[in-house]
Amino acid sequence: MENSLILIVEDEPKLAQLLREYLEQANFRTHVIGSGLDVVPWVESNIPALILLDIMLPGKDGMAICREIRTFSQVPIIMVTARVEEIDRLLGLELGADDYICKPFSPREAVARVKAVLRRVRLQESGGLEQDVFHIDSEKYQASYHGRQLGLTVVEFRLLRKLLSRRGKVFSRDQLLDQLYDDHRIVNQRTIDTHVKNLRKKLEEIAPGENAIRAVYGVGYKIDI
Ligand code: CA
Repeated sequence: MENSLILIVEDEPKLAQLLREYLEQANFRTHVIGSGLDVVPWVESNIPALILLDIMLPGKDGMAICREIRTFSQVPIIMVTARVEEIDRLLGLELGADDYICKPFSPREAVARVKAVLRRVRLQESGGLEQDVFHIDSEKYQASYHGRQLGLTVVEFRLLRKLLSRRGKVFSRDQLLDQLYDDHRIVNQRTIDTHVKNLRKKLEEIAPGENAIRAVYGVGYKIDI
């Protein structure tokens, strides 16, 4: 759950900033959009883990946005409304939202709600097991990410497999180099950086901004999503 990307759709800059700070303190990454017209195009080309969606927005309102997103994505959505009376009406509309919160809310409450919805959705999706964004087929030397095939070279595949063998562990360049080649050729440690760069580029094409491979300064690399 940590490091998940949360899209904050909010046209009040101060509230957006507050949400951003609290979510980032809770180890989420955030992206803020203030105009209703910009939301759907962004969601079409990015993969947020969850959307906090204000209803009253310039350009296009949150209800229309929610309906539109549901035509192509099941991303969890928490609707934010300014009026508690509105929630009953919203529930009746069956917009496909996962939860509702009412302004004014404390940022802490919003963070707790985000975590709860993510937990619930992930449990539902996986039938009790966390769903993995990566799938590795060691026989075919193929890997997919968010359900999409990554066209990897053999070296990139081995690199990814090694990083995934222990999530959250930082592998040194030497440890990674050991895995890459069948022969014991002498390669520069910086070779790893080049392969990581290419692998990252391929991951980035599928999930821009997810930043699955993290560099740990002076040590090496890890994956902890
Ligand atoms: Ca608003």
